[in-house]
Amino acid sequence: MHIDLHTHTTASDGMLEPMQLVQKARECGVRVLSITDHDTMAAYEDLVDRDTGLRLIPGIEWSTRWQKLEIHIVGLNVRPENADLRDGIRQQQHSRMDRADRIAAKLEKLGVDTPLAGAERLAQNRHIGRPHFARHMVDCGFVRNESQAFDKYLSAGKAAYCRTEWAPMEQVIEWTHSAGGLAVLAHPAAYKLTRSKLTSLIAGFKAAGGDAMEVVSGRQTRDMTSTLANLCRKQGLLASCGSDYHRSAPGFAEPGGFETLPSACRPVWESGFGDRGSGLVR
Ligand code: AMP
Ligand code: MN
Ligand code: MN
Ligand code: MN
Repeated sequence: MHIDLHTHTTASDGMLEPMQLVQKARECGVRVLSITDHDTMAAYEDLVDRDTGLRLIPGIEWSTRWQKLEIHIVGLNVRPENADLRDGIRQQQHSRMDRADRIAAKLEKLGVDTPLAGAERLAQNRHIGRPHFARHMVDCGFVRNESQAFDKYLSAGKAAYCRTEWAPMEQVIEWTHSAGGLAVLAHPAAYKLTRSKLTSLIAGFKAAGGDAMEVVSGRQTRDMTSTLANLCRKQGLLASCGSDYHRSAPGFAEPGGFETLPSACRPVWESGFGDRGSGLVR
C-alpha cells in the first residue's frame, strides 16, 4: 500500500528517528504517511521545515479506556497546535509518568536492577512506555526477550502490570475532533475479544463519536480483514489501514507492507481525512 496511516518513531516506542522513518517509508513506496506515536506528537517537531518527499498526515495514537480494557484510538489529520489536543497530551503524559513510577516500583521488588533509570535511558528522556521497561529487562538478562517481559510481567494482569487512568474514549475523541481530526479505532483485532465483545466495542466507539476503524492493521489474515470490513460497514464507519510499524522485525509489517482495503469499504482519505471545509464528512 502507498498509504500508511499508523507508524511509530523514537518519540514513543519506535526504533527509528522521525526522519529515518520517513526515509524508510519512502523506500517502501509509501506516499502518504501518518506518524502516530503513543500520546505524543513530538516527532512532528523534528520534521518542521524538512522536505519529507511524501504527504504527511499529522497523527497521534491515544491510549484510552473502554470498560476494563486499554484501547487505542488514532487521531488523524489533527492540528498539533490545537489547545485542547495539547491539554490532552499533557494529561496523558502525566498518566504515563505516574504509571512508569508504579511499574518501576513493582519491577524493583521483583528483582530488576534500576528499572526506572534503565527505561528512561532507553526512552532518551522521551515518552516512557512498557516496551522501554521490556528492553531494559532483556538488557539486564532478567528475561530472554521482550515478549517474555510482556507475557510474564507487563501485560494486563501480570506481576508488574499497573492500571492506568487513561482518558476515556469520549474524551480522546473530543480532543481529536477539537483539533480538526478524525478518530480511528486502532487494530481492533489486537484486543483478542470474542466476536460479540468486538461488535460491542465498535458500536460503543461509534456511539462515542468515532469516525473510522482500522480494517487492515499490519499483517493479518484475509478472514480477519473481511470480518473487520463487515463490522466497519455495518457501523457506518470509514476504513483506515496502517502497518503499526515500530521497527523491522520478522513477522511484522514494513511501512506500507499490508494488503489494500476491501473495495466495499470507504477509505478515510476519500473523506479528505475529515478536513473541515471539505464538506465531505461530519
Ligand atoms: P504502553 O503504550 O506503554 O502501554 O505500551 C504498549 C506498547 O507495547 C504497544 O504499543 C506495543 O508496541 C508494545 N507491546 C504490547 N504488547 C506487547 C507484547 N506482548 N510484546 C511486545 N510488545 C508489546
Ligand atoms: Mn507501541
Ligand atoms: Mn496500539
Ligand atoms: Mn501503534
